[in-house]
Amino acid sequence: MTRLVESVCRAKDHQQLPLWEAKGPWAPNPVTFRERTWAYCPSGRPDGHEWERVEPRPYETLREETEREIAGSRQR
Ligand SMILES: [Zn+2]
Repeated sequence: MTRLVESVCRAKDHQQLPLWEAKGPWAPNPVTFRERTWAYCPSGRPDGHEWERVEPRPYETLREETEREIAGSRQR
C-alpha cells in the first residue's frame, strides 16, 4: 500500500536523518498520521514540528528527495 504524504516538517533542527540509537528515549518515527493525512519529518522526532502542506506524494519519493537535499546541503 502506498502512503501519500501531504505534510512535511520544515523545522530547521529536524532536517537530518534519524539517529538510530537503540538506547534513545524515543524511537524515530518519520511518518505520522495527522489530521487524517500522513505527515513526514526527516528526523522522526516526536514533537517540535513545523508542518508545511505539500503536493501529495508517496512516502518513498519524499524520503529520497529529502535524503538528497540533506546530503547536498552537507557538502557545501
Ligand atoms: Zn519535525
